[in-house]
Amino acid sequence: MKVPLLDLKAQYRTIKDRVLEVTEQIYESQYFILGPQVEALEKKIADYCQTGHAVGVSSGTDALVLSLMAAGIGPGDRVISTPYTFFATTGAIARVGATPVFVDIDPETYNLSPEKLEEAVAAMDEEVLKAVKAIVPVHLYGQCADMEPILEEATAHGWVVIEDAAQAIGAEYKGRRAGSMGDYGCFSFFPSKNLGAFGDGGIVTADDPQVCERLRTLRVHGSKPKYYHQVVGGNFRLDALQAAIVAVKLDYLDGWTTARQNNAARYRGLFESAGLTDRVHLPVEKESRHIYNQFVIRVDAGRDDIRAYLGEQGIGTEVYYPVPMHLQECFSGLGHQAGDFPISEQAANQTLALPIYPELTESQQAYVVEKIGAFFNR
Ligand SMILES: *Cc1c(COP(=O)(O)O)cnc(C)c1O
Repeated sequence: MKVPLLDLKAQYRTIKDRVLEVTEQIYESQYFILGPQVEALEKKIADYCQTGHAVGVSSGTDALVLSLMAAGIGPGDRVISTPYTFFATTGAIARVGATPVFVDIDPETYNLSPEKLEEAVAAMDEEVLKAVKAIVPVHLYGQCADMEPILEEATAHGWVVIEDAAQAIGAEYKGRRAGSMGDYGCFSFFPSKNLGAFGDGGIVTADDPQVCERLRTLRVHGSKPKYYHQVVGGNFRLDALQAAIVAVKLDYLDGWTTARQNNAARYRGLFESAGLTDRVHLPVEKESRHIYNQFVIRVDAGRDDIRAYLGEQGIGTEVYYPVPMHLQECFSGLGHQAGDFPISEQAANQTLALPIYPELTESQQAYVVEKIGAFFNR
C-alpha cells in the first residue's frame, strides 16, 4: 500500500470545478496583481481569523519580514523566538538586521515555553533586555503556543508580538484564533499548509488600522502616493490568481480541519490498541483547537531507522526539523553550541511527522500504525 505524506491531487478533485471557474475569470480580466480578488480574500481571512484586517502578501516568509519591517525592527534590535521552527521564522529576524534570541520549547507541544521565557528574561543583563523589541511565538504543527503568559511578558516589556501562524490557520487558544492575539499574525499559503495556494502566497492579520496602512505601503516598495517613497519597502504583493484560489479553498477549510482532527483521533485509537503508546509519544493537545497541519510522533531512539523502514513500506514521513536554528551554520555567529537548547535538540532528533491529510483513509492509517508496530517487533 502507498501512503504519501500529503496527497494534494485528492483534494484538487473535490474543488476543481470552482477553481477553474474563478481562475478563468481572472484570465479574462487580465488583472493579475493585488486588486479585487486580493481584497476579497483579505476580508474573508480577517473574518475567519477574528481580526480587524488582513493584508495579502507574497509568502509566509514575506509576511514575517514585512511585519518585522512594519514594526520598525532592525539592526541593534533583538527578537525572541524559538529554535525549533521552520527556518523562515529566524531567517526573517536576521534579514531585517535584528539578532535572534532563542528560548527553548515545551517538551510536549514543541512550542515556545513560557517558563523558559521567564527564566531567560530574568537571566538577561539590562542592556540585552533593553534591546529586545519583539517576540515571535510559533504555533507549530497547528497548535497555538501558550499565549497568555507570553502576552503578559510582552506587555510588561513593551515588545511587539508577531505570531508565526503559518501552520495554524483556524487554530484556537482559549477560544481565540491564531493570528488574532498578537500585533501581527503571519500566515502562509504554501501548498502543504492546511490552506494552500497553487504556488506561493501569504497574509498578515492585524487589528490596528495604522499597522495595516504600514503593511500595505511597505508591500508596494513603500510607495505612498504612487512613486513617492518615505520609506523603503519591497515587492511583497499577492497574485490575484492565488487569492482567488485560496478564497475558494477557505470555504472547505473547516471540513478539512475536522477530517484532520478525526484522523488524529483515529491514530490515537490505533496506537493504543496496538499497545505502542509506551514507545511512541503521541502529540499532546493542550490548546482548544489543534488543526493538525502535522501529526508528529516522538520516539526515544531509532527515529531515522523507523523513517527508512516506513519509506520501504511505501509510507511517506518527514522530519520537521532536523537541525534547530541555534545549530544552523548561518547562525554560528550567535555563538551557540549543542546542549544550549536541549528540548529543541531532542525534538529535532526524535520527532517524525506521519501522513494526516484530510483524504487519508482508515485503512491507510491502520497500515501506518501496523508498520510502526512491525518495526518495533522486528
Ligand atoms: C511554512 C512556514 C513559513 C514560511 O512560509 P512560506 O509561505 O513557505 O514562505 C514560516 N514559518 C513557519 C512555521 C512555516 O511552517
